[in-house]
Parts: sequence; C-alpha cells; structure tokens
Amino acid sequence: MQKITIAVDGYSSCGKSTLAKALAQKLGYNYIDTGAMYRAVALFALNNNYFDAKGKPNIDSVINSLPNINVSFTFNAANKTSETCLNGINVEREIRSMRVSDKVSLISSIKEVREKMVALQREMGKNKGVVLDGRDIGTNVFPDAELKLFMTADTLVRAQRRFDELSSKGQYHSIEEIKLNLQKRDYDDTHRKENPLTRAKNAVVIDNSDLSREQQLEFVLKLINDLHLITLTE
Ligand code: C5P
Repeated sequence: MQKITIAVDGYSSCGKSTLAKALAQKLGYNYIDTGAMYRAVALFALNNNYFDAKGKPNIDSVINSLPNINVSFTFNAANKTSETCLNGINVEREIRSMRVSDKVSLISSIKEVREKMVALQREMGKNKGVVLDGRDIGTNVFPDAELKLFMTADTLVRAQRRFDELSSKGQYHSIEEIKLNLQKRDYDDTHRKENPLTRAKNAVVIDNSDLSREQQLEFVLKLINDLHLITLTE
C-alpha cells in the first residue's frame, strides 16, 4: 500500500505530539518525536556541565561531543509508545523536565547539532510511512512531505496543558513560569538562524485551542481522504 510522510510542525506545547502519535497509531505508521532528540542533546550538555554561570552553553564543547552523543528510540510495550534513549539509557522522563525545557532552544540553535539530528531524522523516515513532529520538518527535513500540518493554539491554553502534563508527573511549576518558557522557546525557535520555525507555504494550519483530540484526528483523517493521499481503511 502507498505510504506517505506526514510533517507536524508548530509552536511549543500545541499538542503536536498528541496528534502525531494518534495519526501514526491510526495509520500504522512510525512516530518520530524530533523535539525529543534535541532535548536528549540538551540533557547531555547539562549533565556534562556545558553551561556557564549565566546559562549560556559552551558551544565548542557541545560540538566536540557530538560523536559521543547517540540518540535513539526504544519501544515501551507497556504504554505502547516509543521512548528516547541517550547513549543507550532511557531518558524519556528526564528530557521532559523544566531543567531541559529551559535550555533546549539554545542547544537546538547550534548548526552542527541540527545537522546531526536532521541526518538521523531523514534516515529514520526514508521509507515513508512516518509521522514526524517538530519545528522544521515540512520546511527542511522533509520538504516533499505529502501532508504538512502547522499547529498553533492560544498561549494560555498551551500553558495550562503543559501544567497539567507536568503536574501529572509530579513536577510542579506555576502557570506563569510555564507560559514564559513557552514564549521564550517560541521566540528563540522562530528567530534562530538555522532552520527557524516557519510555516511551510503548503502547510494546513490547525488552531486547536478549542478542539478536542478526537476532533483534531477526525479533521486530519478527513483531510487525508479529501486530498486522496492514501486510501483509509476503517
Ligand atoms: O517539541 P519539543 O517542545 O519537545 O521541542 C523541544 C525543542 O527542540 C524546541 O523548543 C526547539 O528548540 C527544538 N526543536 C527544533 N527542531 C525540531 C524539533 C524541536 O529545533 N524539529
């Protein structure tokens, strides 16, 4: 059966991964969380004290360490999701912490880091049948993706969702702190020199401020059907 590539880009905490995972599950595709890959590199940099007292990364140290940074995914059969590994160790929980969220955009703006991650992402998605979520998938990683989605949502709605997600994992931060982190990451991600976050011209915008998960999935499946991208079976 014909397989396509689906690129899901957009702002931080817009529900990209929730939609991408649901789509991958529905279509029997692989899901690739590209943000997790940058988060794993940021965690490596934090664990090796590559940040100075002002919080700036030592870029040379990060670049020199790249050959020693191995990012991969492992499938967790219990919760049926793929989880991120850094040098063979499962870091899925650690990479979602605020400590990593605070630093990841500084790391993802480093050209050499991006080159390594993008090459890995292209390799993982080369046979199609994949849903990738990130910031530059439709514009840079897979510019020929058959379906490109660009997600956005009201900042407060996003902050509340992230608050709920972190609280459910026992990580407590104020809505204000979370909101500031999202706004800062959005600013950094849209203003960086290397592959900034922009909407691909042919991406379909989804503002999910008032949409449930089911409504979003239904909307995209209808889109796939209407555009005759693949034949959907029940
Ligand atoms: O998607 P997530 O919020 O986990 O991404 C974390 C960070 O990784 C983003 O804020 C961005 O700096 C970076 N990222 C990126 N390019 C991607 C995916 C994520 O620069 N394709």
